[in-house]
Amino acid sequence: MSHEGIRMMQPEAGAAQESPKLTGEAIEPVRVKVDKSGGAGMVIHWKDGHSSSWSFAWLRSACPCATCTEEREKMGLAPGQTRAKAALLPIYQDPVRPLEVSPVGNYALKFKWNDGHESGIYSWDYLRNVADVEALRQGASAQPLQGGDLRSGGQ
Ligand SMILES: [Zn+2]
Repeated sequence: MSHEGIRMMQPEAGAAQESPKLTGEAIEPVRVKVDKSGGAGMVIHWKDGHSSSWSFAWLRSACPCATCTEEREKMGLAPGQTRAKAALLPIYQDPVRPLEVSPVGNYALKFKWNDGHESGIYSWDYLRNVADVEALRQGASAQPLQGGDLRSGGQ
């Protein structure tokens, strides 16, 4: 399966959506936990009962801004996938974490990452319809707030 065109800023390109898009309560957060100081990640509980969790590293690699989206497309990476990037930046591997997380209106969050990047606007819609789906598909949806190493086995 090839994945072309998960792109938010392309109104004209035919909408080839594979799965029905979640709307309404599914993209309405009731609780957002960002473990900024612990550095683990973010958990969102949605109004429809589902909850999503991501590590910060994953979220950074899923940055929805135009530049990052383009870069991922060039490398054939899905949001959250990092292989190529890790190879390109072997020198400093500071753990990714946000310096600031701020709401954008009532529809999104904006992260200011410790690598200086801050142009990604993570809308609830993006987080639920893209980030959550991709993380589950990649098996990356760990439980980042329970401490410990995200990458070590477990469930
Ligand atoms: Zn970006």
